[in-house]
Amino acid sequence: MSSVHRYIEDRESLLVRGLQDMVRIGTVNPPGLDYRAMVEHLLVRCQGLGMRSKVHRVPDGEVRRIIGSSEYPRYNLIARWDVGRERTVHFNAHYDVVPCSGQWKFGDPFEPGIAAGAVYGRGSGDMKGSIAALLMAVEALQASGVEPAFNIECSFTADEETGGELGAGWVVGQGLLNADFAVVCEGAAGTQVGCGHNGVLWLEVELIGKAAHASRPEQGVNAFEALAGAVNKLQDYKRKLQAARRRFVDFDGQPRNPTINIGGTFSGGQGDKVNTVAECARFSIDRRLVPGEKLAVVERELRRAVSQAADQQALLSYRVESPLQIEPCVVDVEDGLPGAFARAVQVVRRRAAGFKVTSGFTDLHYFVVEGGLPGIGYGVKGEHAHGVDERVRVRDLVLTARTYAEFMQRGFEGL
Ligand SMILES: [Zn+2]
Repeated sequence: MSSVHRYIEDRESLLVRGLQDMVRIGTVNPPGLDYRAMVEHLLVRCQGLGMRSKVHRVPDGEVRRIIGSSEYPRYNLIARWDVGRERTVHFNAHYDVVPCSGQWKFGDPFEPGIAAGAVYGRGSGDMKGSIAALLMAVEALQASGVEPAFNIECSFTADEETGGELGAGWVVGQGLLNADFAVVCEGAAGTQVGCGHNGVLWLEVELIGKAAHASRPEQGVNAFEALAGAVNKLQDYKRKLQAARRRFVDFDGQPRNPTINIGGTFSGGQGDKVNTVAECARFSIDRRLVPGEKLAVVERELRRAVSQAADQQALLSYRVESPLQIEPCVVDVEDGLPGAFARAVQVVRRRAAGFKVTSGFTDLHYFVVEGGLPGIGYGVKGEHAHGVDERVRVRDLVLTARTYAEFMQRGFEGL
């Protein structure tokens, strides 16, 4: 085993402690708690590794424009280890975590405990474990006197759990990256290398009719009945998503169709009563796009279905808003980076690596679609992400750190 790998294997407990320190900073999003404490923590760690590091606070006006309030500021950190190489690989990880509920094994989800070889805590798998592994990889190369095959640039960004517009989207949009390739530290794990992800479109539909006394319903316009009509119309649409021409086939041969979830949230108006004609009805739509689909086309399809249903009811008005839009993305696996990374995976895991397009979305599209960089996704394999008892195996932390280190060390050699 080379000195870099040995270094990481010998520092398992340090790696775990590094992760625990980060889990204790409860960066819950929404609303975006403790972001400042988190970037300051990471700033100290990156500076400790001799990286040129800078915290970027997103201007309050921008924050207000996207989330309606600037009560919780957004911060992103960029750190660089320049070794004078021609090319630079950018590693991105988000540091926000989703809110918690339920009974946790160790009580407090932000007081990480260890049981049966796994670290428990919110964010341990998604994705502070990957941050800990990445920083350990940099440390191992430095301590072993091994120069990476490329300059290393890292960004630790906010808000992935709510779409990433003020995090990864912001750092890419502001031109803060100076890199040739991107590795987003989630989206695949183990022996799989992430080569893309599904897209997503959220819509909130509000139907507005006219309230009336239930004894004279003809004087009102029933928004609830209109909602039923719209939901029915969307059933036809849902069936059409199963068509063969809509299908995407993943690198491993697995077919996947687009999906739609209707009514994840639904509600009525304030004056709802059993003896009143419903004035207002709302429901949400979560539509997942497979690679090859386009947001603009999908949004048009859905708006058409809603408007056709709404138009069947005279005097009814409606509003459709879209709080989240993410394009699907898929990368060219012949492009060099996926193959080079897969080789590092193979060396560490001692098994063949495969490529995978994940069904959930990550921030990868900001780097690939908007930033125009070749990119892949790879991180720790968390369990129960977003759920109770989220955890990550210590062994997986170590192997992921070694995989990052192997890739940094080996680079694109031979390709
Ligand atoms: Zn994540």
